Amino acid sequence: MPKPIFVAGRWREGRGETIASHFPADGSLNAEVAGASAEDVAEAVEAGRRAMADPAWRDLRPHERARHLHAISDGLSRRADEIARVQTRDTGKTLAETRALVASAAGTFRFFAAALETLEEELTPPRGDVLTMSIHEPIGVVGAITPWNSPIASDAQKVAPALAAGNAVVLKPAAWSPLVCLKLAEVVEEAGLPPGLFSALPGSGAVVGDALVRHPDVAKVSFTGGTSTGRSIARIAADKLMPVSLELGGKSPNIVFSDADLDEALAGALYGIFSSSGQSCIAGSRLFVQRPVYDAFLGRLVEATRRLRVGHPEHDGTQVAPLIHPRHRDAVDRYVRLAVEEGGEVLCGGRPPEGPAYEGGSYYLPTVIAGLGNGARVCQEEIFGPVVVVLPFDDEDGLVAEANDSVYGLAAGIWSSDYRRIWRVARRLRTGTVWINTYKQFSISTPFGGVKESGLGREKGRHGIRAYMNQKSLYWNLGDRPLPWAGL
Ligand code: NAD
Repeated sequence: MPKPIFVAGRWREGRGETIASHFPADGSLNAEVAGASAEDVAEAVEAGRRAMADPAWRDLRPHERARHLHAISDGLSRRADEIARVQTRDTGKTLAETRALVASAAGTFRFFAAALETLEEELTPPRGDVLTMSIHEPIGVVGAITPWNSPIASDAQKVAPALAAGNAVVLKPAAWSPLVCLKLAEVVEEAGLPPGLFSALPGSGAVVGDALVRHPDVAKVSFTGGTSTGRSIARIAADKLMPVSLELGGKSPNIVFSDADLDEALAGALYGIFSSSGQSCIAGSRLFVQRPVYDAFLGRLVEATRRLRVGHPEHDGTQVAPLIHPRHRDAVDRYVRLAVEEGGEVLCGGRPPEGPAYEGGSYYLPTVIAGLGNGARVCQEEIFGPVVVVLPFDDEDGLVAEANDSVYGLAAGIWSSDYRRIWRVARRLRTGTVWINTYKQFSISTPFGGVKESGLGREKGRHGIRAYMNQKSLYWNLGDRPLPWAGL
């Protein structure tokens, strides 16, 4: 029996295609889900619209709405181990990572519950006797569309601020990882959120995602995923004149100057690309190393990469777990072959690991490539796997030009002990985030997003809630004279 989905406050079988979740470590079937259809999307959106207008939700004071978010946060914390295990089965990520992601999701709901109680409205300078103010109200039913690489955390980053703002949310996860959002739906239901405010609709992007974006009563879409999908969503949104926020791909430069602490830089380079098996939008996939230390650093990098523990995601100590799906592993491998055709040298990895422990799994060895220029396709296109290309550089101007020579602009890392240089370079890099002597660190209070083809808009931070609100101006006459039109 395929698993039911959560539509308009009810668990029932979706009317769309059945989708399967497989364990990437061995290819075994986790579960089948009776996926959603376009009709299910319409039902969920209509239920959301009605639930939002119901005084039981619409008239809640901020602290009362915050209580619902706290209850969801508590539910996530209470069921953290179970949800982490499901996510590991669904995505192949290590348990250490999925535990961190569930903790992050619980923290996101807690943060937006607190932030919601601090939101202020603005009195603008009065126009004589006319009091003027700017207030915010919920934007409407929000469509949240997320990828498979960190589902519970990216789901929370959209659902929490959208609910905090007083909206209803219809969540569509990626078809390769349908199980995690159903766990979130269980938690939301247990937390007592009024029915209809949240629906979780696993299904394909082409049917369920598309229906959600096109639905006339969806007032905003918040999307995380690939750049080409984001672009097609933006086109539909343009026709509807609907705001979208887009968290898209990346090809982030991680930059090691010769004056850096090279031990720290080495650890940061490894973590930056190989954690999450490189399936991360912010992966430091272009590693720039300054010429005087290039050879020595590359040697140490290759040696350390060979020592990384590639293994089962449920085993303690695993650093590099399988990729999400054999099709994705094959796509990563095609990029490595392409790098060789382009003249690159594969210094380690470059193939799936061998042996009975890896049978049936979509594993790929962490891979270091050198000998290419920044113009190579593997330096320009997102591989989304455990593959780093290492490039030498000479001076700051040349480095900045190459680092910025990318359609993407999501994140960057700088490793140096010269604080003036860090300040100069950090401001010249065209990216949404710069990590300095660290990499891949996140705080829910700090806004996140990309420039160029890495996206539009920002998530997180106190003002993340405003992205799900409309601003309204009020002019309130407190004077006793009518407008001079009636001759009075
Ligand atoms: P994807 O674009 O293929 O899919 C993302 C989501 O969009 C899925 O739920 C998918 O079903 C849905 N979708 C697909 N086609 C659609 C359509 N026509 N209309 C509506 N929805 C549609 O991406 P993916 O392969 O799941 O994830 C990997 C990508 O996500 C990478 O490019 C990565 O960089 C990006 N990503 C970005 C961030 C960020 O914050 N910037 C974070 C994580 C992942």
